[in-house]
Amino acid sequence: MLKWLLLSAGIVLFYLWFKSQKRIKTESKGASKPKPSKAKVVAKAEAMVLCQYCKVHLPKSDSLTKEDRFYCSQQHLEALDDQGWLGNAIWRISPNQDSRPEGATPDLIVVHHISLPPGGFKSSASSQYVIDFFQNNLNPATHPYFEEIGSQKVSSHFLIARTGQLIQFVSTQNKAWHAGASSFLGRERCNDFSIGIELEGDGDTPFESAQYKVLANLVQELSKSYPHLQFAGHSDIAPDRKTDPGKFFDWKKFQKETGLASEKLPFGLNSR
Ligand SMILES: [Zn+2]
Ligand SMILES: [Zn+2]
Repeated sequence: MLKWLLLSAGIVLFYLWFKSQKRIKTESKGASKPKPSKAKVVAKAEAMVLCQYCKVHLPKSDSLTKEDRFYCSQQHLEALDDQGWLGNAIWRISPNQDSRPEGATPDLIVVHHISLPPGGFKSSASSQYVIDFFQNNLNPATHPYFEEIGSQKVSSHFLIARTGQLIQFVSTQNKAWHAGASSFLGRERCNDFSIGIELEGDGDTPFESAQYKVLANLVQELSKSYPHLQFAGHSDIAPDRKTDPGKFFDWKKFQKETGLASEKLPFGLNSR
């Protein structure tokens, strides 16, 4: 009888020992593995970004991105922010700018064309040369024409490439150097109160429909911040010196796509 009792006690003790060993093993296994993955999940959830437009915090995975900027919504991505920068554009800051006169708000848009070298866009993508030009980085060795213009310090607020790509160089709150000596309905120095938009093109080639579309969207966004805008070509405000945007800029198409009232287009809708 005693033998049986000792044997049973032995079996029970062995069972308890075996069970405790198993638990230690499971615990040590559990302690080493799930922790890092849990930390990873936490780190991922904490990748927060700031909407460039409204400054709200949001998870990076929920944001819309343009270059290295983040936006909370398509509406904020497409808008002009309170610093005068358009989210939807590529930003390439030009040093060729200065402050507007005290209290001046833009009430004129000047439409231009530019192409470097002239007509270069017909054979290859050349809008980067315009970016280089406005950033004073044009290499004079690349083309004889670049040597001629390389020392000029100019800029515009926006450039619309042949593809419809939109580039911004100067905040709309600052003065870009695009108009030169000019006069709009008797008001001199148009840079003081205007926003310059360059369309990549020359005087001999129709502009692309992608350019009109992007221009219309841009005008719509700018009009929200500057409701008193009027529109002119560079040749309208500097007729002795300039011919751009030229006879291939279709003012009727522009008016149709923007829905602008005719009093906002004081030089009319005829090609010129
Ligand atoms: Zn936002
Ligand atoms: Zn011009």
